[in-house]
Amino acid sequence: MSVITAVDTFDIRFPTSQDLDGSDAMNPDPDYSAAYLIIRTDAGDGHGGHGFVFTIGRGNEVETAAIEALRHHVLGRNVEELLADMGATWKLLAHDSQLRWLGPEKGVIHMAIGAVVNALWDLKAKRAGLPLWELLSGMSPEDLVALVDFRYLSDALTPEEALAMLRAAEPGREARKAALLAEGYPGYTTTPGWLGYSDDKLARLAKEAVAEGFTQIKLKVGASLEDDIRRVRTARDAVGPDVRIAVDANQRWDVQDAIDWMAHLAPYGIAWIEEPTSPDDVLGHAAIARGVAPIPVATGEHVQNRVMFKQMLQAGALQVLQIDAARVAGVNENIAILLLAAKFGVRVCPHAGGVGLCEAVQHLSMFDFVAVSGTKEDRMIEFVDHLHEHFVTPVDVHGGSYWPPSAPGAGTEMLRETLADYSYPEGPVWAAGAVLETTRKESR
Ligand SMILES: [Mg+2]
Repeated sequence: MSVITAVDTFDIRFPTSQDLDGSDAMNPDPDYSAAYLIIRTDAGDGHGGHGFVFTIGRGNEVETAAIEALRHHVLGRNVEELLADMGATWKLLAHDSQLRWLGPEKGVIHMAIGAVVNALWDLKAKRAGLPLWELLSGMSPEDLVALVDFRYLSDALTPEEALAMLRAAEPGREARKAALLAEGYPGYTTTPGWLGYSDDKLARLAKEAVAEGFTQIKLKVGASLEDDIRRVRTARDAVGPDVRIAVDANQRWDVQDAIDWMAHLAPYGIAWIEEPTSPDDVLGHAAIARGVAPIPVATGEHVQNRVMFKQMLQAGALQVLQIDAARVAGVNENIAILLLAAKFGVRVCPHAGGVGLCEAVQHLSMFDFVAVSGTKEDRMIEFVDHLHEHFVTPVDVHGGSYWPPSAPGAGTEMLRETLADYSYPEGPVWAAGAVLETTRKESR
């Protein structure tokens, strides 16, 4: 028996706004950040559970405080007990009768629950000696169903239906696992498309992406129609007719604006329009989907919980579902969302990039392929070639594909030096803040 002895938190920030990496129509100058935690035990095996919430700078201290507000649920608890029944552990955190008022099941507190849940999954996978995708893919359909809170879902998906889907996928698991190891899982890249990049840089990076083997790139749009038409044309000229180009408006538009704007971009061949409007506007997304068809509508990185995804699917509001490893309450809730997507026959193309999102979310797509939807067709995981060097087990993306990680854990562990260097505001990177502030102003 072992006990959780500490839940350490870190406010980690990277000064990415200096280079306009990550810039889009709503977020012109993000400092990519992580509200990070390590769950430590007295087991003596050296394993800690690592998890985080991705944020883009200011407010990361609020997210870190929210993680700390959950500490009492796990500190001093029996580790084996918590990890043996992750469905019960999820409910312990998500159903906290007082903290729930801050949501319910949305926003800062819900994301903090996700970080704690993901840290526990990281610990569970390390103890099992397996990467998370493989751990999940080896669980019985009954045990997987037990991870999900079906409250608010049963009008769209019952535990019995979920069980039937998972059982139907069970016989093909071994063959798909072999296929995954042999072929990898397709990725696409957003690296060329940040709004702050010049046309030359966009064209160069787009060509490089194709040369690297990617079959889809994504461009940020939504600030200026004239610029967007020129940038999409530039990208199309650079990649040729066969590479897919998705666009992402990061919630910039009202419903009619989205429909009108997309009519101007449609002639260049658009793979999907992502986050055209508010992530809470279910009916608005449905109207946009009708208005821009056959261009698919994609959303999910800001969809706050499984209940919103349920409504989006019921309303025909999205054709591409973008789970995010750090937006909802962790692995358990993302399994609920993967099951919903499978029930509705909608493809899942995860949101990634940020800090560690690629490392984390790949496990969910790989698990989905092996044990849930059973298909990779038209599915791909977002990739941004950025900040991976700060992780103990960075993603292996080459030839346009993600390659299944073999290291035990959930991929969420950052390097110890990174935690020291980028801690805000006391780490050496930020302690030199006067210099950074000057550089940042000059770059605008
Ligand atoms: Mg996006």
